[in-house]
Amino acid sequence: MQRIRIRHSLAVIGFIAIAQTAPPRLEHYRLVPGFLPEVFTESGMAQGNGFATPNPWGTYTAYRLATNAKGHRTWRIENYLPNPAGTTAQGSSMYLFEGSTRALLVDTAQNTVDAPGQPDLKAVVRHLLGSNDDGSARAKAVDFVVANTHSHGDHTGKNSLMSDRTVYYPDLDWPRSAAPPNYVPIKEGGGPTTHGSGTATGEIDLGSRKIVAIDLHAHTPGSTGYLDRENQMIATGDAIGSAYVWAHFASITQYAEAVRHLQDVLRPFDWVAVLPAHFYQVKQGLRGKAPINGRPLDKAYVDDQRRVAEGILNGSVVGEPYRVVGRNAAIATIDSAGVVYTLGNLSPAGALEPAAYHAIEIPGPSAIDPPSGRFAAIDAIKSRIYLIRDFGQETLYLVVGSTKALLIGTGSGTPGIAAFVKKLAGALPVEVIVTSTDPGQIGGLAQFAGATIYIPDSMAAPAGTSGVTRVSRGSRIDLGTDRAGRPLHLDVHPLSGHDPTGLTLLDATNRVLFSGDALGTQASDAGLILREGLTPFDGALARWRTATDGKYDLVYTAHNYEWFTSPAYVDSVQAAVRKGIAEGDAALTDSTRLPGMKVIRSAGAPDVIASIVLAGRGL
Ligand SMILES: [Zn+2]
Ligand SMILES: [Zn+2]
Repeated sequence: MQRIRIRHSLAVIGFIAIAQTAPPRLEHYRLVPGFLPEVFTESGMAQGNGFATPNPWGTYTAYRLATNAKGHRTWRIENYLPNPAGTTAQGSSMYLFEGSTRALLVDTAQNTVDAPGQPDLKAVVRHLLGSNDDGSARAKAVDFVVANTHSHGDHTGKNSLMSDRTVYYPDLDWPRSAAPPNYVPIKEGGGPTTHGSGTATGEIDLGSRKIVAIDLHAHTPGSTGYLDRENQMIATGDAIGSAYVWAHFASITQYAEAVRHLQDVLRPFDWVAVLPAHFYQVKQGLRGKAPINGRPLDKAYVDDQRRVAEGILNGSVVGEPYRVVGRNAAIATIDSAGVVYTLGNLSPAGALEPAAYHAIEIPGPSAIDPPSGRFAAIDAIKSRIYLIRDFGQETLYLVVGSTKALLIGTGSGTPGIAAFVKKLAGALPVEVIVTSTDPGQIGGLAQFAGATIYIPDSMAAPAGTSGVTRVSRGSRIDLGTDRAGRPLHLDVHPLSGHDPTGLTLLDATNRVLFSGDALGTQASDAGLILREGLTPFDGALARWRTATDGKYDLVYTAHNYEWFTSPAYVDSVQAAVRKGIAEGDAALTDSTRLPGMKVIRSAGAPDVIASIVLAGRGL
């Protein structure tokens, strides 16, 4: 019985594949008569307000993508919101699917101000539906309903204008309070929900044209695609991006699931067009050049997105800092696709493969030359640094010079660190240093038998190691030169407090400090676990600062996954110490991360705040 059923379904799939005829080819750049083309800067952003001449359609323009055999048309509508400086404008794309009885507008784009007397979004849509392709008035124009791909403001900007018609709104993005009465929940397959009338819609019938909802949850919890099977097109919002996806709002495990689901959904369709919500990005940057040459999104893009997501998860893809979002975010790319993610949320707790290591390269291929802006200190690095996260949330660093590479810390000891690091270092020999006796420093040491291993001079040789080299104040580890041809070496600056063996490493050429566990983690709770008393640590820190102050612009700790921490963090550590000494018990608050422990917090923004747990001799 089961075998017959399988044969039957295979036969059906085969039949569909054979019977499939090519849908109308999409004309991505066919302007509707009367609308203006956009003008773009060299970087692919809309220039000024997006248009070279006064636009009779305000902030909008429209392209007719296709007309099918039934006469149903599909449009792309663009809406440009000038950026604060006014030199460029941010574009959001909408799609309009016309059926026999009504039309569907996917998204309402930006919250641009429609100038009085100028057409608003409703007028634009009515004009498109009410005109024949030659611009003459259409005898029987259909009205339209609206569906949102997700809750972000650059795609729901004109929802309030649509209060006189149904707005299908993703069930899992449902407004927390006061959803407008015209909102109807929508999700793949429809079904019960606690929102709206209690039943979600799964498909929208436009009359001889059906649009079905596809769950693509990750960019937002409810991100939804709108698939037209017959005409082989799907509007995906931001769910898989428009050239690269902002997936850092979710785990990459969840994002990979969403992309795999989309692959499954699109498998039967040979020519399917993927219609994203920031269309201008399809020809931005490298995508504008060969071999992609600005090609609009298709199934190959979906396949590439899956490869990136899975490569991030299994560690085979190395990311780099994603400066646009800031210190928490990284980006990884393969071929036509890119994924923005955070090393702090790759997967639900414990769900990663223990042997998988994850790395970002600093500064990475996108370094800005000459260095400029908020992250100039990153761009100024001329060595190659890898920030590596392991299964135990330990952070390791690999510094690559011209003659050798140095691994700082060996992590919690899950299998594979030696092989992972060897791949990053290429042909160069890898040496190893541990900066304290912490388990996160020495856990993986056993995997480096035969390598040169440096340990603090006050530390007993860890079991299983032989021939260690001891380092202390003034020791220098030479890695040859950096990419700029400058001497690249790491100088040892001991700092006890967390651990009596603790040491830090300074690359004064590239102005980078690797602080091990000696300065703790930059965080608002349980950052530095201090085993010595506050007063002796205050003295040790002051002496350490005399030798190191002014020599670095970046701090890399043994637990932060963020790729940018400024030296102001060290000021915060000292401020917390001084606060504890000055205020005594009054400075202590309860730790949330370590229940039962007390913590001293410095003042400061989330990216510089220090927090000290008194784990030993207290004040
Ligand atoms: Zn979005
Ligand atoms: Zn967006």
